[in-house]
Order: sequence, then structure tokens, then C-alpha cells
Amino acid sequence: MSEYQPLRPKPGPIGEMFAPVAGFGVTLSSMFRPTVTEQYPREKAPTQRRFHGRHQLNRYADGLEKCIGCELCAWACPADAIYVEGASNSALPENAGLQVHADDSQGAHMSPGERYGAVYQINYLRCIFCGLCIEACPTRALTMTNDYELAGKTRAGMIYEKQDLLAPLSEGMLAAPHPMVEGTTDTDYYSGDVLGPTAAQVSWVREHRPDDETLDAADAVASGKAPAPTLKQHQLRPDEGPGPAERSAGAASVGSVRVPATTTGSRSTSEPGSTSVADLTAGASTSSTPGSGVTA
Ligand code: SF4
Ligand code: SF4
Repeated sequence: MSEYQPLRPKPGPIGEMFAPVAGFGVTLSSMFRPTVTEQYPREKAPTQRRFHGRHQLNRYADGLEKCIGCELCAWACPADAIYVEGASNSALPENAGLQVHADDSQGAHMSPGERYGAVYQINYLRCIFCGLCIEACPTRALTMTNDYELAGKTRAGMIYEKQDLLAPLSEGMLAAPHPMVEGTTDTDYYSGDVLGPTAAQVSWVREHRPDDETLDAADAVASGKAPAPTLKQHQLRPDEGPGPAERSAGAASVGSVRVPATTTGSRSTSEPGSTSVADLTAGASTSSTPGSGVTA
């Protein structure tokens, strides 16, 4: 057997002399380079613009929701992380006793057209942030924000409900439900022809919810005294304050939803027609079929 021959040339006398401390050369040269350490969480560095972060359910400029409850996002999700239940706008309690057809632009609507997303949940214990749900959404209702702070204290808290995902109402938007802009169809909304609330929508809300906090700003937009609203994005969550689970427990915010009591018989709802994250995780909805239930 021949003697081992190293492929690297043997160092000269100077190389031999510095060999024991050669490894420190990298350390020494790095000491004079700019620091790249990020001081997270004290300083939050912005992400790349197309970073896939927490999802957002968007709104139209008049405040109606873009989600139509079609469940395409749930079916596209490879991780079975999304659960959606659609409902008919004509079945909204505000339409009780009225002759409102599902495709009628009048009467209360949560979203333009016939249906809206009554229940919407994303399980962030399952989501792999692939973005396939975004591609599947036909109305651009679902997009992804740059929010990456998605740690939670409990498994139940990692299931984000609709009120956690819905875009906040911008200044000048009118809180849903309310009628569509008069004379429009859902296609007009998709085409971007609706630029803000109208006087008719404002007066409908004033008649049905005179205490609505969004009325004054929406009235200013409708009368031309204020500019058209622009879509707001969720901000990085503050370090303090309630998490999604706590927010879900007190789901009285604008845009909160009533959950039909017909979904899964095993849920133990605390009040008729409503449910919570805790109910869902305690329930027996363990199917792995897309769209059939979110499990932790
Ligand atoms: S981003 Fe998350 S929720 Fe959307 S399809 Fe991918 S795994 Fe599912
Ligand atoms: S987010 Fe989009 S794809 Fe998902 S249910 Fe709503 S409209 Fe359909």
C-alpha cells in the first residue's frame, strides 16, 4: 500500500508558523465587518415584500367582505388547515320578514352576491404557508400579510377565527351587514367599480344600527367630504394584549359572525347558534377530509 499523499500543497515555513492560529483569521476579519445581528424582538426588521405570513380576509371599499364562502381555499389546502362554512346573505337576521332574494343587491349583505363566509378558520398548527389557498381564491378575498409573529400559548389559540383574519375597517368604510351599492352586481364589485359607501347605504345602516361607530366617517365619504377609503392590513401584533383565543372568546367586534348551529352535532356551544375555538377543539371534528373541520 502506497503512503498517503495529501492533495493540498504542504505549507511553507511561514504557513507552518501561523498554522496553530490560522482559524482565528476568519474571526479577526469578521470583527471589522458591519454587524448583521437583528435585535429581535426589540427591533422588528421588515420582511421581504412577498413574504408569506399570516392570512388576511379582505374587504371592498364600502366595507363588505370579499369572501363568498366558496370553500375553494379549503379544498386547495394541502395541510387541511382551513375550515369554511358559507351562508346565504338572504338568511341574515337583518333580512327577516323582508322579501330579499339571494342575488338581490338590496337587503343586508355581508358580501356582494348570494353568499358570504359565515365561519372561517385557519389552523396555524397545520399551515405550511405554501400560499395555495391564495391562488385558489376567486375573489382575492384571501391574501397573506407580512405578520410572522404567530407563536401562541395554547393549541386552541393557534386556530384563528374569522374575526382574527378579517381586515380591519379602514376610515370611511361602513361596517357590514348593509345593502350593496344600489344598482350594482357582484361583478361590479370584482371589477373594482365600488370606491366607497354611498348615501343610500349610510341611511340604511342609520335606520337599522343608529349607534354604529362607522356611520360618521362613511357619511363623510358618501357626501364627498372625505377621500375614498383604502384597504388596511393587520399590523404585526403588539407584544401586549389579548391573543386570538381571548379575542375569539369575546367576539363582539365588528365583523364577528354567528355560527349556524347545524355544523357539527358534537360541538358544545355556550349559547344557541354560536361556537368558539375551545368548542371546536373539544368537539369530535377529527375528519381529515378538506373542508370538513379544523383539528389541532
Ligand atoms: S398557506 Fe397554509 S392554509 Fe394556505 S394552502 Fe398553504 S397550508 Fe393551507
Ligand atoms: S377566502 Fe376565497 S376561496 Fe376561501 S371561501 Fe372565501 S372566497 Fe372562497
